[in-house]
Amino acid sequence: MPEQNATNKKRWIRPLPERLINKIAAGEVIERPAAVLKELVENALDAGATRIDVTIEKSGTKSIRVTDNGCGIDPDQIEIAFGRHATSKINNFDDLEHIASFGFRGEALPSIASVSRTRLVSKTADADSGREIIVEAGVVQSVKPVAAPVGTTVEVANLFFNTPARKKFLKSEATESQHLTRNATALALSAPQTGFLYTINGRKLFALTDRETDLRTRTARLLLGNNADQLFAVQSEVDGMSIRACLSFPMFCRRNQTGLYLFINNRYIRSQVVVHGVTSGYAELLERGHYPVGSVFITVDPTQVDVNVHPTKAEVRLTDERRVHDILHQAVKRSLRASGELPTPHVVGDTSAPPKGYSASEAIRRLKAAETTGPANSDPNLLRELYRDRSQPATSPLTTEPPQSEPTEPDMTRPASAETGSFDPDRALFMGQFGGLYLLFASGENLYVVDQHAAHERILYEETLHVVEHGGAASQNLLFPVTVDLPADQYALYEQAADVLTASGFIVEPFGPRTVMLSAVPAALSRQSPEKLFTAIICDVGEHQQAGFDIKKSIAQSMACRASIMSGDRISEDEARALVIQLSRTKNRHTCPHGRPIILKISRYELDVKFGR
Ligand code: ADP
Ligand code: MG
Repeated sequence: MPEQNATNKKRWIRPLPERLINKIAAGEVIERPAAVLKELVENALDAGATRIDVTIEKSGTKSIRVTDNGCGIDPDQIEIAFGRHATSKINNFDDLEHIASFGFRGEALPSIASVSRTRLVSKTADADSGREIIVEAGVVQSVKPVAAPVGTTVEVANLFFNTPARKKFLKSEATESQHLTRNATALALSAPQTGFLYTINGRKLFALTDRETDLRTRTARLLLGNNADQLFAVQSEVDGMSIRACLSFPMFCRRNQTGLYLFINNRYIRSQVVVHGVTSGYAELLERGHYPVGSVFITVDPTQVDVNVHPTKAEVRLTDERRVHDILHQAVKRSLRASGELPTPHVVGDTSAPPKGYSASEAIRRLKAAETTGPANSDPNLLRELYRDRSQPATSPLTTEPPQSEPTEPDMTRPASAETGSFDPDRALFMGQFGGLYLLFASGENLYVVDQHAAHERILYEETLHVVEHGGAASQNLLFPVTVDLPADQYALYEQAADVLTASGFIVEPFGPRTVMLSAVPAALSRQSPEKLFTAIICDVGEHQQAGFDIKKSIAQSMACRASIMSGDRISEDEARALVIQLSRTKNRHTCPHGRPIILKISRYELDVKFGR
């Protein structure tokens, strides 16, 4: 009887039991022993500990013990701390935007306790005695008074004993140890004022006192065998963002990123954009695929970071990654110069194999058209302001002047300082093009070198980004629409980027499982083979995505690069001037979208020094 069957099979919707919810949450929050270590040490730091002891047995599968001398947990609250979403750290939604503590979800203790046997002993300063609680697989086994010093000890034993699948998923002991030690190191770096003892599998890996409180000492102790003189310091403060870093000199760099620790608002994070910002600051001093050792702390307005992306909180999303990248790049570079490592560059950037664009005259026509229609051209003060010469001679082996810590290129990370001469594109003497790429201008006591490709790229990048964000793209219809077959991964990228591609002037539609049909391309790029152009842009998007850029920016960057005048394109004096005037109207006129410099200054003084005058 169908009726009978239906009632039999009736599926009841009901809330999951709390223990099961915790166990599910544990799957996300506690992916491996290193995550337990992180949560427990963060709790200790949040509790204001000045000393933390961590002891790991059998790479965390046997036990993870963290003892702190922090504020402790009130005896009456000890059981509540294991309740789901129980936290003493936030009360309302506003707090969530301005989180200063590490924890805030109130998820760690219940999650950990649901997949292990957890023993917590804690005592506050005003309690008569300590209290111990034992929770196994999420079930409270016992709560009782015990003698204990002020502070908290949490011991997590038999991790994942009741989740065999997860346990099997763990990597070798050696790998888990690496993860544990990496997290311990990061936490110790993030709190140089806290004493830290770390013992794993019977070996004491580090014992840091709370007396060596500066970042440099701690970075050297943890990452460079205590050799602080292998590190240089980076410090920068721009528009409410601050950077503090200790990085190794080029000769102490590694072939992988394992020695580089990044923090945003004191939280250990991973970010390829940040890594790139740092390494690009070393310029030619760092071989491709080499990375410095050290620690980088970026402090930004908490509303600019979304740490909530993933419960383990190692991934972050920054509102303006590009800006963070560029500021880091400049700050690192400036410090290397100041330390005398990075000489004043006289040849800039990577000019090898520039991508194909369309002809110089075509590009320049567009530029000049924009120049005559654009605003602000007649305001010489604005231009002077934009080209204010902010730099001073840099230290180089030949420089006899007292060392200066300034770079020789215009530096967007610094406010304008005392002016020694200015580059006014209207009045500067155009001296010609050098090497098919560099435009030379003389102005006052200085020689200015402009990378024509980088300059044009910057102009087109900002134009394209504006169009993508605000509409108004010019398309060129193709006489014959073309179909393009894409490999699966690229098709997925196309799907993600479809809206932005449309906004930038492509008319492209799905046309079969992995095929798209192109019927128009952005007007600026209409000279190129549409199939090649389209696949090249999709490839760029893929690469940029790995580096963490958003799709709008990566498409704007890719299009700008392809439409720019290239190395080898000859341009006239009028065209050169049109280019620098356009450049003066861009938002960031100092670096191209890849972060390379656009304009360099060589002072008369530097030349005199080089010639021994
Ligand atoms: P969260 O850290 O997100 O608040 P947890 O589950 O990690 O959540 O901890 C729950 C609560 O237990 C914390 O808010 C804190 O009040 C208390 N607690 C946990 N560990 C400690 C510790 N080591 N010292 C003092 N209090 C602690
Ligand atoms: Mg916590």
